[in-house]
Amino acid sequence: MTVSFELSEEQQMMKEEMHTFAKEVVRPQGRHYDETAETPYEIIQEAAKIGLYSWEGVAGMFGDPTGLMFPVVNEELAWGDAGINLAIFGTTLGLSGITGRGTPEQIGRWAPECFGTPEDIHFSAYCVTEAEAGSDLSGMKTTARKDGDDWVLNGRKYFITNGGLPKTVHVVVASVEPELGTRGQASFVVPPGTPGLEMGHKEVKMGIRASHTAEVLLDDVRVPSDCLLGGEERLRASLDRARRGESSRSQAAMGTLEGSRPIVGAQAVGIARAAFEYALDYAKTRHAFGGPIVEKQAIAYMLADMRTKIDAARLLVWRACWMGRAGKTFEAGEGSMAKLMAAEAAVSVTQQAIQILGGHGYVADHPVEQWHRDSLVYKLFEGTDQILWLIVASAIANTRIR
Ligand SMILES: Cc1cc2nc3c(=O)[nH]c(=O)nc-3n(C[C@H](O)[C@H](O)[C@H](O)COP(=O)(O)OP(=O)(O)OC[C@H]3O[C@@H](n4cnc5c(N)ncnc54)[C@H](O)[C@@H]3O)c2cc1C
Repeated sequence: MTVSFELSEEQQMMKEEMHTFAKEVVRPQGRHYDETAETPYEIIQEAAKIGLYSWEGVAGMFGDPTGLMFPVVNEELAWGDAGINLAIFGTTLGLSGITGRGTPEQIGRWAPECFGTPEDIHFSAYCVTEAEAGSDLSGMKTTARKDGDDWVLNGRKYFITNGGLPKTVHVVVASVEPELGTRGQASFVVPPGTPGLEMGHKEVKMGIRASHTAEVLLDDVRVPSDCLLGGEERLRASLDRARRGESSRSQAAMGTLEGSRPIVGAQAVGIARAAFEYALDYAKTRHAFGGPIVEKQAIAYMLADMRTKIDAARLLVWRACWMGRAGKTFEAGEGSMAKLMAAEAAVSVTQQAIQILGGHGYVADHPVEQWHRDSLVYKLFEGTDQILWLIVASAIANTRIR
């Protein structure tokens, strides 16, 4: 058996193409979208024109047999700007809700609709979190009630990436049998333009401001029965198992999130690498006490530490992505481990970059202060650090840790 950490020729070409896109299209606009917090439609359109923002493009990257193509692309684009990267790839979260739980017919119907075309950009949003249900989804209040052949959804979702944007396919997790907790929940597609779904308050965030985050209000939102992801038969069987107290292989939201965490980790690696490279260049040209600061041990050791953390994080991300693609079980919470390590690397490396730039790192003349603000969310969304520790700890101790 051959072991290799080298990218294939195809992966290397894609990495270079994405790096050019990140350098020439994404990064120059990073500060503008950080300041305005607008959705970067023009950049998403550019991404659509080169086939990156499309169902075929994303499916092709997911189809890469090593599992590495998608993290490589995410790292490069987040190196350009994490908020813009999320504005482009936020759609894949709702998409994973569809591909993870939908029937082949539902995937064929809704996956292309999540992207639209370069002339008519669509989005997707994955609506799980609520005011009273963040880490602990058992408190979810949004309900789905069967009414004739339709389902009727009511509730209020918080912190939703792409939530309420026009032409968005919303995937909503709702409680069908609240007394069963997370096992009584199901996922529904709410097609763009469905009456009763509206955007609520748009959040004002400290970082990744190019990515839209808002409340989603659901007021008697009526969807046909074929919008229930996975179909009625599968839902009934899973509710029956839950009522009998039998163990389940998946819950509506948790399975989707565990699979996407390493990709979120790849984005964090991209931010960390941007900050490291910037700080290294700066340290070579900034002089103090008769020479470049890169020659001061305290600075050089910090750079060595930064690079070590980035490489370690990337290796964990790649391992988890490879495991996911190869269908291997995350026996020790390897998906969570990857995101934990990458988020920690992003936060600490961006902070070290500010330190290396001194006072210049603290002001908006240089991008490192923005990258530090951007990095902090990686310890919060798609599972906080504390929840991911819990997942890893429960897996390695083979017991339920609360
Ligand atoms: C920018 C952004 C984008 C987001 N996008 C989406 C999206 O697209 N879709 C979506 O559904 N959600 C989204 N979220 C929501 C995100 O997933 C939640 O914020 C996250 O899951 C944490 O939930 P919470 O904010 O309610 O914190 P809480 O769950 O209230 O946690 C508060 C604190 O308690 C800790 N804690 C909770 N339980 C435990 C425990 N058992 N042991 C130890 N500590 C614990 C947490 O780690 C945290 O430190 C987004 C959030 C942000 C900030």
